[in-house]
Amino acid sequence: PVRVRFCPSPTGNPHVGLVRTALFNWAYARHEQGTMVFRIEDTDAARDSEESYNQLLDSMRWLGLDWDEGPEIGGPHAPYRQSQRMDLYKEIAQKLLDAGHAYKCYCSTEELDARREAARAAGKPSGYDGKCRVLTADEITAYEAEGREPIVRFRMPDEPITFTDLVRGELTFTPENVPDYGILRANGAPLYTLVNPVDDALMEITHVLRGEDLLSSTPRQVALYKALIELGVAKYVPHFGHLPYVMGEGNKKLSKRDPQASLNLYRERGFLPEGLLNYLSLLGWSFSADQDVFSIEEMVAAFDIADVNANPARFDLKKAEAINADHIRRLDVKAFAEACRPWLQAPHANWDPADFDEAAWQAIAPHAQTRLTVLSDITANVDFLFRKEPVEDEASWTKAMKGDPVALLTTAREKLTGADWSSPDSLKEAVLAAGEAHGLKLGKAQAPVRVAVTGRTVGLPLFESLEILGKERTLARIDAALA
Ligand code: GLU
Repeated sequence: PVRVRFCPSPTGNPHVGLVRTALFNWAYARHEQGTMVFRIEDTDAARDSEESYNQLLDSMRWLGLDWDEGPEIGGPHAPYRQSQRMDLYKEIAQKLLDAGHAYKCYCSTEELDARREAARAAGKPSGYDGKCRVLTADEITAYEAEGREPIVRFRMPDEPITFTDLVRGELTFTPENVPDYGILRANGAPLYTLVNPVDDALMEITHVLRGEDLLSSTPRQVALYKALIELGVAKYVPHFGHLPYVMGEGNKKLSKRDPQASLNLYRERGFLPEGLLNYLSLLGWSFSADQDVFSIEEMVAAFDIADVNANPARFDLKKAEAINADHIRRLDVKAFAEACRPWLQAPHANWDPADFDEAAWQAIAPHAQTRLTVLSDITANVDFLFRKEPVEDEASWTKAMKGDPVALLTTAREKLTGADWSSPDSLKEAVLAAGEAHGLKLGKAQAPVRVAVTGRTVGLPLFESLEILGKERTLARIDAALA
């Protein structure tokens, strides 16, 4: 059975690259009816935070990426926070030392830096040179007497490491390119290089799907796995698949610090989780040659790692928005009305909460649903209904009031007064007639009416909007504009 894991470190805000990794693991687990393990890699007390941990859980829940084992639900390999598993790692590091797969390294940072520089200058590989691989008992005694505190280093095998990447095919790394590496700090703290594969082994992970930035750590982990198998800690080397880089502006790698990469930004702007996930699934994968919009269930049914593309993917905000818009259209109108709720409430809403009118909201919601790209736009589109006076925007007025709006608005008011307010068609006829009286086409004639009534130059279909606002309030706003 397939067992995958999502194992972020709780540092900073979740970003879209991380969500893409979570999504691909989750989709694969669900497609294979396997197990999704959620593990928190919080071994770096200096960088990890509880706030970030809570945000990770909250983000996964908001996205609907559920897990079968992990924080808050536990599971057979609990605990799932590495900070609670420290003794385990130390025990395994000791086993690796005892078996000769690891050794104590007494080289100081200054010595390492100096040798690295020298190797570089000589055009040689600049990784760790293996100086402490074989130390005599006397050398060790001398180092200890100097008060040096050793780190623990993993001994890489002298042969090349080969593995078949699920995305990239067979890859081989030669020993010069993968030097021995640290697994415990001098203070005994275990490093990512140790805890990540140890937990993958103990949690019986079968497939490791993660970003291409981690590809260079894979040959080290494969070697460590082989040692763990020998020690009886691991049963097998898992399959690895490295998801392609995501490129942002200017064809540079999208960095997690890039504001465009922040998950919270999409959430605050009112992306639907299904819209965002649909878009992110296309970063390295495709559903079909002619279909970009699909449900999460459709994605799960179709998803296979073998179809992931090794080429870098380009993050395209316009496309993300277009896909989100499609998902908004697909909602049931009731679900849409509820999804907008957070933006209709303080602190987003720019009206007095006491003036919110549920019936008017229910009436306007279907018209908004066919037009929004992101849910946060709802506030500006419906505030004319809930504000005592429309927003005032000088720029809109100047734009809409070219020519002689006073004459047009005066006629429009007359015609609207006599119109049938139970139908938007009749209101349209009224404005059309007012325009004809002044030699204006409908578009030009409705612009000043829209600005007078809603305060804006663009918005939801005007005549439906007027009908919902009602005769009395509409006429009063035209009067106020004329005054
Ligand atoms: N905690 C690591 C990270 O967030 C996990 C990397 C991995 O998937 O192996 O980068």
